[in-house]
Amino acid sequence: MTKIRNAQELEKIFLEYAYYYAAQGVPFKPRAYELASEAMSALGNEVKEVWVQGGIKELKNLPGIGQSTAEKIDEYFRTGKVAEYEKIKKEFPVDIWGLSRIEGLGPKHIAELYQHLKVKNMADLKAALKAHKLQTIPRWGEKSEEKILRSLSMLEQSAGRKLLGYALPLAEDIVERISQVKGVKRCVYAGSLRRRQETIGDVDLFATTSNPPAVMDAFVKMPQVASVHEQGRTRASVRLTNGMDADLRVVPDKVFGATLQYFTGNKRHNVLLRQYALSKGYTLSEYGLFRLAKKGSKKKGELVACETEEEIYERLGMDTPPPELRVGEDEIEAALKHQLPNLIPYGSVKGDLQVQSDWTDGSASIEDMARATQALGLSYMAVTDHTKALAFLGGLNDSKVIKQGKEIDRLNKKLHGFKILKGTECDIKKDGTLDLTDKTLAKLDWVGVSVHSSFKLSRAEQTARLLKALANPNVDCLFHPTCRIIGKREPIDFDLDEILAAAKKYQVALEIDAFPDRSDLRDVHVRAAIRAGVKIVIDTDAHSPEHLKFIPLGEAIARRGWATKADVLNTKSVSDLLAYLAKKKKMR
Ligand SMILES: [Zn+2]
Repeated sequence: MTKIRNAQELEKIFLEYAYYYAAQGVPFKPRAYELASEAMSALGNEVKEVWVQGGIKELKNLPGIGQSTAEKIDEYFRTGKVAEYEKIKKEFPVDIWGLSRIEGLGPKHIAELYQHLKVKNMADLKAALKAHKLQTIPRWGEKSEEKILRSLSMLEQSAGRKLLGYALPLAEDIVERISQVKGVKRCVYAGSLRRRQETIGDVDLFATTSNPPAVMDAFVKMPQVASVHEQGRTRASVRLTNGMDADLRVVPDKVFGATLQYFTGNKRHNVLLRQYALSKGYTLSEYGLFRLAKKGSKKKGELVACETEEEIYERLGMDTPPPELRVGEDEIEAALKHQLPNLIPYGSVKGDLQVQSDWTDGSASIEDMARATQALGLSYMAVTDHTKALAFLGGLNDSKVIKQGKEIDRLNKKLHGFKILKGTECDIKKDGTLDLTDKTLAKLDWVGVSVHSSFKLSRAEQTARLLKALANPNVDCLFHPTCRIIGKREPIDFDLDEILAAAKKYQVALEIDAFPDRSDLRDVHVRAAIRAGVKIVIDTDAHSPEHLKFIPLGEAIARRGWATKADVLNTKSVSDLLAYLAKKKKMR
């Protein structure tokens, strides 16, 4: 494949810088480069536009970009490379980008693997693991070897699939491009994307048009295309630059509904629906719903519905399940009984209740985060910086939390139509006690608590730890409850029913952390929580302004978990939310 000259490569270069300096124990620089790398990832090719328009000066206005990183971006776009980086790569010829994707392989480990075993890339690492050589590195031992082997297998399991949060914007961009081609009437994505599954394999697109060749042409020539698998008259298939495959079919306008229905549900939903159709004397295909032909008759059955999905489901005597529910669980049964939930609409969340600022490991000031949140149409946010147990992230102690509250008071006087809540992401220590005093917690508007260490406790110990934390009367919400990171970290083990019972009893909400790699709670947990009468909160866990746009991903998880608007606390206005929290405090 040809070299792609864009933000993706800059993202890689900066991450490699971060690891390189971290391996050498250089202070501060690693974090700066890591932030720059994250900024590249969030901005994508917009970086180039910024550079074209304003050069180094404009680049420096980007969050996470300083003088030295701006200069490197400038050099990269001017010359196609960064000279200093090339020099580093000669001295340390390791695929840091590739190896760093393995959970547990930090900069020091990657440096040691190279020093002791000449491991330069994934293939070398696999060979070294196979020969049990990792345990020969001083201080590594058998346990680290096992851990890396486990991480590697998790990574490989998730290979090829992309997280919804990263695939969706790409698909939406493609739809927008194709929709603008002359003659196109409709263009949509279907499949796992339309169902908003947490990971996505391929992008399946459908269009109706008066001019199919023009659509095919526009599709294969998009800037996101790395190579073309095939291009026919009404169907083309390509590999995108992010490694996903995308497939576009032009279909007749008349059967659009049938096609969409056929390519949206997962296999189980479609099988169950076809079985049900058969039992009612119909057959269902991508061309429509047909009455079964008479036995012995040579004629095809009569077409009864194909233009819209709703028409097809209605003919089968049921309501139309929203795409997110078409997974072959009990949605068909509910649709038949007209008992599908009124799912929380996208755009319902009014405030973000987990946001980090540059008081700890966020990249932007509280004010910048507030303004960015407001710009997205939200009317409040809670500042929830980490607490002191997370010393390596600069976690806040009690006095700093109080000081931050004063800063928030000052900002609230300045802002119009927007309120910043004083909050925390208070660490739950191994014994279940909290990392701030009750006196401090009582002064906050919003107390989120979460686990960031001792992930491997037994089920009983982990449950007891969480129960103890939830019992603290100051606690409002359990953040990212399972702590899993997709493709990287297994969820912690606890008894969900016990946690739900406690959350209900103490009126503690459970969070859907919409950050794509977390997506925690998962849909099944959300559904269980709602059944147990526990409230949900949808947050972004934003560490920079670009992350604030993740809210719809959390709404998607809520929808997959059958949540209605009333189940989600932060669909309330800020005054209603504060009244709810005050009432709750009195009751406890
Ligand atoms: Zn956290």
